[in-house]
Amino acid sequence: MAKLIDGKLYAEGLRKRIAIAVAELKRDHNLIPGLAVVLVGEDPASKVYVANKAKQTVEVGMNSWEHKMPADTSEADLLAMVQKLNDDPSVHGILVQMPVPKHIDSAKVLNTIDPAKDVDGFHVVNVGRLSTGQDALVACTPTGCVMLAKDTLGDLSGLNAVVIGRSNIVGKPVAQLLLTENCTVTIAHSRSKDLASIVRGADLVIAAVGRPEMVKGDWIKLGACVIDVGINRIERDGKNKLVGDCDFASCEAVAGSITPVPGGVGPMTIACLLHNTVKAAAAIKGVKLPEM
Ligand code: NDP
Repeated sequence: MAKLIDGKLYAEGLRKRIAIAVAELKRDHNLIPGLAVVLVGEDPASKVYVANKAKQTVEVGMNSWEHKMPADTSEADLLAMVQKLNDDPSVHGILVQMPVPKHIDSAKVLNTIDPAKDVDGFHVVNVGRLSTGQDALVACTPTGCVMLAKDTLGDLSGLNAVVIGRSNIVGKPVAQLLLTENCTVTIAHSRSKDLASIVRGADLVIAAVGRPEMVKGDWIKLGACVIDVGINRIERDGKNKLVGDCDFASCEAVAGSITPVPGGVGPMTIACLLHNTVKAAAAIKGVKLPEM
């Protein structure tokens, strides 16, 4: 039976360490890190995410601003809002909640954010820095996955890691981070042939697919570490349920360690966003932060 990787507990610990760093920045440098979140439209899931982000930002002692804009906001108005936040010295982190309405070019919006304030880590400058091994603000969910893997396995050097999924927000950055950790990385996707046998070679599996319970226990090498990024809402026995991309029961029977859904990778995302905001604030002020 696999060890359960408790992302909720790890995220709680990280938030406590962030709160200490925030208090020290206030005391020693008169600096209060601040995160501005922009939400365009009325998507109910996005509203919940944004409210959670604001709540946790305030809980660690940082400033939080929410800018709600109507669904028919023009691209020019959204870009002007981003520019205003770029120019505001009390704002150290800017996040535009995705998805934005279809008439707005999301890449243009993301690349208008000052890279020094890009706490989502999606600006091409930060993506480029990550892939060339330079200091960068790195996407939050991938950072959370690697933190959990390192906390569970220790040094990842030399491990065979298989990442299933190649999106810009999870698959590609998590693969880059694993490469930085000296893993041998394979990235699989919807065109990969014989996915099961690719996954069977992995000491570390990161599943970021968006297909409920796709990865089965007989794909998993005995003792492997399984990090399940998937969040899928399904109906089972007349009830709504959240499941991951891995079939938990069969994978848990073979894996050495596994993240549950919910309570695994999910809680790490906001904690890593707060971590990026503190890092951004410290870097903008030229203050060195301790490792967290
Ligand atoms: P995307 O839809 O952007 O990407 C999915 C990836 O999976 C694509 O690269 C796709 O391949 C690949 N894929 C799809 N079907 C298959 C298949 N049958 N076999 C192999 N590969 C396949 O999703 P995201 O990366 O945005 O998200 C992935 C999952 O992670 C989702 O469940 C999402 O909800 C969850 N998520 C969770 C977060 C959190 O915990 N906080 C944050 C972000 C995402 P191709 O490129 O060829 O199409």
